Amino acid sequence: RAKTQQRGGHFYFSRSMGVEIRERVRLMHALRGGFQRGELFLAYQPQVDLATHRPFGAEALLRWRLEDGTMTPPDRFIPIAEYSGLIVEIGAWVLREACAELVRLRGAGHGDFTMSVNVSQAQLRHPQFIDVLRRALLDTGAPPEYIELEITESMAMEEPQQLVEMLASIKRTGVSIAIDDFGTGFSSLSHLQRLQVDRLKIDRAFVTEITGSARGSSIAEMVIQLGRNLGLSVIAEGVEDECQAQILHALGCPLAQGYLFSRPLTPEGLLEWLGARRRDQAA
Ligand code: C2E
Ligand code: MG
Ligand code: MG
Ligand code: MG
Repeated sequence: RAKTQQRGGHFYFSRSMGVEIRERVRLMHALRGGFQRGELFLAYQPQVDLATHRPFGAEALLRWRLEDGTMTPPDRFIPIAEYSGLIVEIGAWVLREACAELVRLRGAGHGDFTMSVNVSQAQLRHPQFIDVLRRALLDTGAPPEYIELEITESMAMEEPQQLVEMLASIKRTGVSIAIDDFGTGFSSLSHLQRLQVDRLKIDRAFVTEITGSARGSSIAEMVIQLGRNLGLSVIAEGVEDECQAQILHALGCPLAQGYLFSRPLTPEGLLEWLGARRRDQAA
């Protein structure tokens, strides 16, 4: 990636590049300020057992709302947070906030609930990451066995030895690890085997394909089979309709997450949703 060279407040770039860079710099300042002003918050998307539709956990997803109500999607601001290094500070806050929410859920009677948290490469690479993780667990009282960190498959394939060691030290805290967006990153199987991973998340793209052509389900099938062979849990993400859920279940996928079950929710929304589910299941 090109580095911005600032001299006397000017950026020397072609016009179109300049516009994009200026926009990114603007967003970066807005994000830094917004983070300090408390404009960031987490939404929680439930995860369910596909056989029973019973919820077992949630994924914490970062949200940014400006004072005027404008939302900036994570796919827009997270790359900027990563690029600028802000993600280290924001990510530490996300981790702590998600742990605190898990503790609140446990207090509200959801004692078996798990919490998944996305982490960026810049966070994992930071020398203090394990301390940050330990502190978040200790300060909030969140039990590590109920926390899962999600790293993307493309991250999982970089810097093999360093990553193997980092994942091993995460595992020593008791926290588990999922590979997000699985199927998009050309994992080498031998490398995958060396990583102490607990779960694979089938990328939404392959869930969408499942109901299309006859071969549409082949990647999802492969990931489910791979999970079974390696003894890993598998979850499908982005499940939007009943048809996809049924096919995934028939293929042996045990877990799922997606709009079919619920969109990401506020903490209060999640508690309500869980309460309603409990009443349904009891009835
Ligand atoms: P991801 O971790 O793969 O998260 C799944 C994304 O799919 C989320 O988008 C979620 O809202 C969306 N989604 C869930 N179910 C469905 C569905 O049925 N249909 C469709 N169309 N979409 C669905 P979101 O919240 O916009 O997040 C986008 C990405 O931003 C995440 O992808 C993750 O890579 C990143 N991200 C979000 N929060 C954090 C965070 O706290 N830290 C870091 N490092 N990255 C984050
Ligand atoms: Mg994720
Ligand atoms: Mg994903
Ligand atoms: Mg993604």
